[in-house]
Amino acid sequence: MRNGREYLESLRDDRRVYIGGERVADVTRHPAFEHAARSIASLYDLAASPDHRDAMTFTSPRTGEPVNVSFLMPRTPADLVKRREAHRVWAEATYGLMGRSPDHVAGFLVGFALRPDVFARGGAEFGDHVVAYYEQVRDRDLYVSYVLIPPQIDRSKPAHQQVDPTLYAGVVEERDGGIVVSGAQVLGTGAPLSDEVFLSSIVPLRPGDENHAISFAVPIATPGVRMIVRRPYAVGAPSVFDYPLSTRFDETDAVLVFDRVFVPWERVFIYRDVKLTEAQFYETPAHLIGNHQAQVRFATKSRFLAGLALRIAEANGVEKIPAVQTLLGELASYSAMAGGLVIAADTECIHDPRGFVYPNPTYLYGNGWLQATYYGTMLNILRELSGSGMLQVPSSYRDFHNAEIAPDLERFIRSPRLGAVDRTKLFKLAWDLVGSEFAGRHAQYELFYAGSRAMTTSLRAYRHYDFTGATALVDRCLASYDLPPAGPDPLLARGP
Ligand SMILES: Cc1cc2nc3c(=O)[nH]c(=O)nc-3n(C[C@H](O)[C@H](O)[C@H](O)COP(=O)(O)OP(=O)(O)OC[C@H]3O[C@@H](n4cnc5c(N)ncnc54)[C@H](O)[C@@H]3O)c2cc1C
Repeated sequence: MRNGREYLESLRDDRRVYIGGERVADVTRHPAFEHAARSIASLYDLAASPDHRDAMTFTSPRTGEPVNVSFLMPRTPADLVKRREAHRVWAEATYGLMGRSPDHVAGFLVGFALRPDVFARGGAEFGDHVVAYYEQVRDRDLYVSYVLIPPQIDRSKPAHQQVDPTLYAGVVEERDGGIVVSGAQVLGTGAPLSDEVFLSSIVPLRPGDENHAISFAVPIATPGVRMIVRRPYAVGAPSVFDYPLSTRFDETDAVLVFDRVFVPWERVFIYRDVKLTEAQFYETPAHLIGNHQAQVRFATKSRFLAGLALRIAEANGVEKIPAVQTLLGELASYSAMAGGLVIAADTECIHDPRGFVYPNPTYLYGNGWLQATYYGTMLNILRELSGSGMLQVPSSYRDFHNAEIAPDLERFIRSPRLGAVDRTKLFKLAWDLVGSEFAGRHAQYELFYAGSRAMTTSLRAYRHYDFTGATALVDRCLASYDLPPAGPDPLLARGP
């Protein structure tokens, strides 16, 4: 197990992260990343602490040492519950606001390693590579990010028909020792803070796209990997007091450019195989185990949001009004559904004949579509309950230290139960969840992190729902009555 300090040290390497026109010398000391890096470090500390030894670790079968539960291969329903509880501990540490914490891609790697036979269809060595990579990442406790979709250039054409066939990341050269990859892939959430990046394509590929039909992982500091990062939200925020979430939990998103990156064969899992590129996600339990974490994380965030809504209502003294309780009840229902469907997916888990279990896709994919759909409604309820309170706050904590207006703040910004400072903290926290740029990015995240609703999440829910059972009910009902024989209408014949 790594601790937080060791994790932070591992980030001080030759990674190429670009921001504001400059290359970042050290992400652990740059204002855009340092607080988020520390938040991730605190997760490693949490997992490594003796208090969490039972909940957050299991014994590596290779080294005999304790390793992080996010690498546990679920072989029994109890293993799934253990994974769920460990995800919850980490999600609660960041209030569900760091979606791609290290346990996310770890789940995908577990799913891959449970089905090396799928990768071996491309050649026996690929199955060995995927297992060896999983073991290495597990035993070194590494943080892997991933980029699975091509940049939005021209979505009407497949990868190989783009104006330049090396725009989307793909193989440009094969050598004895490995392959050379060029092009871009997105969206590398957490990539600047990770140790490794996994690249493949979850977007369906077509015949002709073989150069893009690959799957591999490299250290994030590999020569030729460049990260172009969107505007960071921690920069420009005057303090944690003013932006408690933007400052600490901005995990960042990056466009990853691969400029003739050499990938040794032992790090290649799929090579020029369109069908296998799709199969790795859906014929293995990778997508389900990875998104299990995502949904535990979302359930935690939904509880945070519901709790914040009640605190806001209390601050304004309206929590006993039935109309306000109706809104809180709506939030409570969404939150209960978010958490309940994870429990349903675990309780009704699928037992694979190969000796492992995975979350039930009916509930997992139904949950995925639902949360992407109602997260916006949850935010709106929080907005509705807050009124203008989120804007009746001073511009910065510094105003509390201005002798001229400090007495005004104490007098006018308060609640029956809260003084000026506590009320300001509460409403600034709410703003950072619904109104700040960080909040806007989160709304986008919940809508898209598992794909778009139109093209992917609804179709996954459709494919995995038990329509056979559902239509059997309808058919049984239809079969329970028939066309009546000719004769007078029995209802009219009965008379008044
Ligand atoms: C904050 C955030 C973080 C993310 N983090 C990661 C990450 O860590 N790793 C990663 O790999 N990806 C990540 N993603 C990317 C995510 O996987 C994609 O956003 C998602 O797959 C949708 O792809 P896209 O954004 O290219 O949208 P597009 O595919 O361009 O689609 C955008 C919209 O266009 C419409 N549309 C496009 N094509 C069709 C069609 N054929 N039929 C119907 N409608 C269509 C739909 O309305 C769709 O919602 C992240 C995204 C966000 C927003």
